[in-house]
Amino acid sequence: MRQLFSSRLALGLIFSLPLAGFCLYVVFLQPRFLLSFSASLVFLLGIFVYQHFRLVWLRAEAELKRQDFQEKANLLEAQIERQWVALKSARKKLVDYFELKTIAEKLNQSFSLSDTSSVLSTEVSKLFGHKDLTVILYIFHSKTGELGISASHKGQMEVNIKAKKGDVYDQWVAKNLQPLLIEDTARDFRFDAEKIKVEDDRTISSLMSVPMMIGGKAIGILRIDSPVENYFQTEHIRLLSTIGDLGAVAIENAQLYEKIEELSIRDSLTELYLRRHFLQRLTYEINREIRQKKELSFVLVDLDYFKKYNDQFGHMAGDIVLKTISMLLVEVFNIPGSLVCRYGGEEFAVFLPDCSKERAAQLSEEFRERVAEQAFYLKRQETRMTVSVGVASLPQDGILREQLIEKADRALYKAKQSGRNRVCVS
Ligand code: GH3
Ligand code: MG
Ligand code: MG
Repeated sequence: MRQLFSSRLALGLIFSLPLAGFCLYVVFLQPRFLLSFSASLVFLLGIFVYQHFRLVWLRAEAELKRQDFQEKANLLEAQIERQWVALKSARKKLVDYFELKTIAEKLNQSFSLSDTSSVLSTEVSKLFGHKDLTVILYIFHSKTGELGISASHKGQMEVNIKAKKGDVYDQWVAKNLQPLLIEDTARDFRFDAEKIKVEDDRTISSLMSVPMMIGGKAIGILRIDSPVENYFQTEHIRLLSTIGDLGAVAIENAQLYEKIEELSIRDSLTELYLRRHFLQRLTYEINREIRQKKELSFVLVDLDYFKKYNDQFGHMAGDIVLKTISMLLVEVFNIPGSLVCRYGGEEFAVFLPDCSKERAAQLSEEFRERVAEQAFYLKRQETRMTVSVGVASLPQDGILREQLIEKADRALYKAKQSGRNRVCVS
């Protein structure tokens, strides 16, 4: 230890003694050198200090730049995130747009109200695509304003819904004309879930229902319910509302189409079926009755001396008679499935399904009597009208529509020939 210490001391002395000697030499013998040496030292120190602060400044600047880049990177990241969300939403909108386009195309291809309703209900069912979802389409009755089911599907199957005029949820939508989204029926304080269970025995845990509006007018309600809670979200109800509005236009068109079709098959004076439509229906009904091996009857009615009546009292008075007699026809021949038609000017025809010749003759006699008893008042003057009636039936009188009509026509001719105001049976 002492050896090590003494060797270090010796080493120190070896280096420090010449250095001390040099210093003494410089201080006392070469002061100019000392001056220039000190100046160099001060200069070097200055450079060192300058470099040090420059380095500090560069470091600070680099830090600022790093922070700036970091901020820019964060902003870019946020922007990418936003664009990604926008892209996802655009993709979803595109899918929805194609779905809506498909629904619109299918709705365009259906004309009748039943077809339109069925397409709408099926397509909505497909779109939201779960077999346990129930889709119901209600339409407001044009006269009473009450809700009525027009179509209902569970998955792709038609289902029978007990609450025909809608449950409390649908009534709420009908009253408020606002979309309704219920995430959990058990927790929604606005409606009594227990009461609803009594009305319909299927489980309804979440639902959405939208009014189908067209120009501020409500046409119906489109509703979907699920046995699972929280099945629907706000974006779903937005899509359903758009489909509802699309459906409203289609349903109104179908209603107009049916109205026009109804006008084209009904006589404007008597509101009875026109001959063309009646004959079409007759062919269909006859085939059906024959298949079911049932009897059916056909009645032809012709007003007696109607030309004379017109000549005497005027065409307007004649029209009133035609209208009254039409009402009596509908009243007397009111059996299930019967069809009454204005067959020609003052001729009428009645189709009676599942009705024997005897029963048809009885009804015809009752009708003839009702007409004969009916007084038509023209400016307090009482006038009367009578009718002649011909009756024929299948299968007794043949198997074809033409045979039936011909036999009834012959019977009517017989009634005319034998004095009018009577019923003749073929
Ligand atoms: P018949 O007892 O032999 O049947 O004699 P008819 O005068 O009833 O028979 P005809 O076929 O000669 O005359 C039918 C009349 O019915 C002629 C026509 O002016 C009248 N008529 C047809 N359509 C209408 C209508 O829409 N309104 C009125 N007011 N009359 C009509
Ligand atoms: Mg006639
Ligand atoms: Mg006549």
